[in-house]
Amino acid sequence: MAIERLVEPTMAANDTEEEQMEVSLRPTSFAEYVGQEHLKKNLKLAIDAVKKRADGSTLDHILLYGPPGLGKTTMAGVIAHELGASLRVTSGPAIERAGDLASILTNLKDGDVLFIDEIHRLRRAVEEVLYSAMEDYKLDIVIGKGPAARSVRLDLPHFTVIGATTRTGSLAGPLRDRFGIIHRLEYYKEPEIEQIIKRTARILNTKILPEATTLLAERSRLTPRIANRIFKRVRDYADVNGDGIIDTKLASDALALMEIDYLGLDPADRNMLRLMWENYENRPVGLTTIAALTGDEATTIEDFYEPYLLQLGLLARTPKGRVVTEKGREHLQKFKNKL
Ligand code: ADP
Repeated sequence: MAIERLVEPTMAANDTEEEQMEVSLRPTSFAEYVGQEHLKKNLKLAIDAVKKRADGSTLDHILLYGPPGLGKTTMAGVIAHELGASLRVTSGPAIERAGDLASILTNLKDGDVLFIDEIHRLRRAVEEVLYSAMEDYKLDIVIGKGPAARSVRLDLPHFTVIGATTRTGSLAGPLRDRFGIIHRLEYYKEPEIEQIIKRTARILNTKILPEATTLLAERSRLTPRIANRIFKRVRDYADVNGDGIIDTKLASDALALMEIDYLGLDPADRNMLRLMWENYENRPVGLTTIAALTGDEATTIEDFYEPYLLQLGLLARTPKGRVVTEKGREHLQKFKNKL
């Protein structure tokens, strides 16, 4: 079952206009990048150190992990910008063969930043090429076939890999070990999301009143991508049903239309909680069982539904499976009245 979810934190693959918009909304410097203060502090230090050395040394490889939509790709852009380096963007699934990676690597220049999204989805053969490339900037390739085949070692430019993953657990140990800097991106605080919404409103030339900003921030699942997406939908609604200025009434009407409740949950989240509760009450449910109940892939549940529900305490993780908490049950009972 494929459902279009407004609150889905990944990029909508079929929405190119939206994607272009995302580009213009992406902060390009540390100063513009809201929140994640701990991460910024550490990265700034590492970047300043590299700049100060001025001996051609490169920034350590960086692994960023955490739920989608929190700003990993954006941060890779910021790092490249702050280094004054070029950024090359690719993703684990996009690199099909070792040869694809070899061509990406040989086209890099000294100091370049290579961003690999969903790095946990790299194929094994590709991953192995990446090991020596990351470790000593060498590329091992095999030329020819059969008995005439020989292995050649090529020098590569000194580059920095920034890997992004929603789950460090599924990253092979040897790959993980090659990252000098490993950081988790945290969910944002509501005032930070408000700041992001204000910034987006400014860039998109839309007026939003402070109370409406707070309302949208409350429902954005503490995730910048969702905040921006909801903002754009509410803006459309305000253009059609009002005079374009987003006030609390327009914002809450638009959110009700989208069926996003006061915690930022959408019908798919509530459906999952309800199915779990109806079938198992407060007993633990395995991931594959939940997937069977909702008709989603287990990885979708794990990457998209679960992190925010766990963060809110509506769901708990136990060694035997996931459990709907008392708070989760209460939410199911009362959400209807407080949409
Ligand atoms: P991820 O790579 O973690 O899935 P992205 O970097 O693609 O997330 O971020 C999603 C969107 O959210 C970006 O297009 C950007 O506009 C916005 N965004 C992310 N982080 C921030 C931030 N710290 N400040 C402002 N906007 C942000």
